Amino acid sequence: MDKPRIEAAVRELLLAIGEDPDREGLQETPRRVADMYAEIFAGLEEDPRRHLKIFTEQSDDEIVTVRDIPLYSMCEHHLLPFTGVAHVAYIPRDGQVIGLSKLARIVNSFARRPQLQERLTAQIADFLNDELHPRGLAVIIEAEHLCMTMRGARAAGARTQTSALRGLMKSDPRTRQETLSLLTARG
Ligand code: ZN
Repeated sequence: MDKPRIEAAVRELLLAIGEDPDREGLQETPRRVADMYAEIFAGLEEDPRRHLKIFTEQSDDEIVTVRDIPLYSMCEHHLLPFTGVAHVAYIPRDGQVIGLSKLARIVNSFARRPQLQERLTAQIADFLNDELHPRGLAVIIEAEHLCMTMRGARAAGARTQTSALRGLMKSDPRTRQETLSLLTARG
């Protein structure tokens, strides 16, 4: 990532909004933003497969659910954060499962780029579907978008929900119903 170029762009942005980038509080801001962008957009330079560790478990092919994976991303339309949680459910094929912490890393590898919530949801689902070959898979993301709540278009705390269903979660109504109630149940 080209940090000097980010610094120059942030300085230019400050000038464009009528600020003085040389006043005391702003002097270090371009550098701070460049360092921060390198971190929050790190997913652009990362292959999520490095987090993939699949192991085989004795399994009855029950639904595996992982709820409330913390998620931080940046809306690509406004470059403001959207934050929330991801829920993943899948039915393993031949006992093939993925570690909990790895799943969180995969989610955030896709989140750490300029994103849209719908595309992020689909990318995580397609990646897990391709690598894990589950019999069924569901990814749900619930997130609050600062570009909406900061501008008063939506009440603070309002959440957008997106989902991506693959395999049995998509084709079998009973499995889908069971999955959605497992993933969205409160408490
Ligand atoms: Zn936005």
